[in-house]
Amino acid sequence: MLLLSAPNIAGNEWKYVQECLDTGWVSSVGSYVTRFENVLADFSSCKYAVATSNGTTALHIALLLAGVKERDYVIAPNVTFVASINAIKYTGADPVLLDVDAQTWQMDLDLLEEFLEKETDRRNGELFYIKDGRTIRCVMPVHVLGNLCDMDRLKELAQRFHLVMVEDAAESLGTYYKGRHTGGFGLLGCFSFNGNKIVTTGGGGAIVTDNEELKQKARHLTTQAKCDPFEYIHDEVGYNYRLVNVLAAIGVAQMELLPSFIRQKKRIDAFYRKELSGTGDIRFQQIGRHADCNCWLFTFMTSKQKEVLRVLNDNHMQARPLWVPMNQLKMLRDDIYYTRDDRSRFIHQYCLSIPCSTNIKDVEMEAVVEKIKSVY
Ligand SMILES: *Cc1c(COP(=O)(O)O)cnc(C)c1O
Repeated sequence: MLLLSAPNIAGNEWKYVQECLDTGWVSSVGSYVTRFENVLADFSSCKYAVATSNGTTALHIALLLAGVKERDYVIAPNVTFVASINAIKYTGADPVLLDVDAQTWQMDLDLLEEFLEKETDRRNGELFYIKDGRTIRCVMPVHVLGNLCDMDRLKELAQRFHLVMVEDAAESLGTYYKGRHTGGFGLLGCFSFNGNKIVTTGGGGAIVTDNEELKQKARHLTTQAKCDPFEYIHDEVGYNYRLVNVLAAIGVAQMELLPSFIRQKKRIDAFYRKELSGTGDIRFQQIGRHADCNCWLFTFMTSKQKEVLRVLNDNHMQARPLWVPMNQLKMLRDDIYYTRDDRSRFIHQYCLSIPCSTNIKDVEMEAVVEKIKSVY
C-alpha cells in the first residue's frame, strides 16, 4: 500500500531513543523534552515552546490560556479536522463555524468581516454575539494543509474586534507568511506531531508563544497544576498533558530532518501540479498571498472525486476525501454556521488527497498520475 503521508524515520531517532532507555529517562522528565522545546521555539521563531501529549491537548490548553470560558464563542473554520472544534468544546465554549474560501480552503476573511460587522456588538473591550449576548472571545485560524489566509488582515480584524487569536498550526510546521513562521501570529500557536504530520513523535504536540507568563502557565496546567517541587500541592484543576521524554527524543531527531522533509514535500507538490494540470476538470489549491507553504498533504479538486478515490484505493494507493465539514457532524448540528453558499460542502465533495510521503519515489508518483488520468 502506498500511504498518504507515512512517517519517515531516517535520522537519529533510534540513537536518541536508545539513550533514553539506557539512562532510564523515559517519562515526562528528561533532557530531550527541553531540547525538543528549544528546537521548536528556534524553528518557529517564537520565544517559548511547551511540549504536550498531542495537538488536541495543546489546543485545549492554549484556548484556556487565551481566556476562553464556559459559554463563550470561538470562531473557527468549518473545514478542519475535528480536533480543532473538540478543543473548543472541552473548554465549555461553542464554535462559530465560518465557511471557507473556495480557492485557498482557509477561513473566508470577507465572510468573517461581514459576520463581525453584522452579528456582533463591541462593548468595554469585549465582543458579543447580538442574538444571545454571549461573549465571542477568540478567533482560531486553522492553517489547513499548511496553507494560510491573509494573516495581516486577520490580525487587523482580530484587533479591531477585540478577539484573541490562537492558531491551529497543527499542519503548518514549515509554513511561512512574509518570511515569518506560523504559530507566532496569535497570542498562542499549536503544533501536532501525530503520525501523519510533516514531523512526528508518534503522538505529540506543542504550544508556542512569545509571552513568558503564558509559557509558565502552560507548563503548570499541563503538569497537574503542581506548584511545589516536594509536596503534592496543586492550586487548580490541572491536566496530565505533557510529552514524555522518549517521544521528545524522536522529535529532536525528526526536527533535524525537517528541512529535507519540506524540500521533499515541495518537490512532490510541484511534480503533481505539473503532471496533473489540464487533466479533466482537475484544479489545485491556491496558495494564499505571501504564503510559503510546507505542502504537507497534496490535495486537489475534481468532479470525478468518487471515481478517482475508487481507482487509487483499488490499486493500493491510499487516497482520501477531505474532512466532512464540521456543520454536518451530528454533535455540531446545532452550532452556529455562518455561510453564504456552503462552499464547505462543495470542497468536501470535490477534494481528495493522494500519496505524498516524503520518501515517495518518482516511479510511484508516476504510477499514481497514470491511474488518475485513466479516469478521464
Ligand atoms: C492533526 C490535527 C490536530 C490534532 O492533533 P493531534 O496531535 O492528532 O491531537 C488539530 N488540528 C488539525 C488541523 C490537525 O490536522
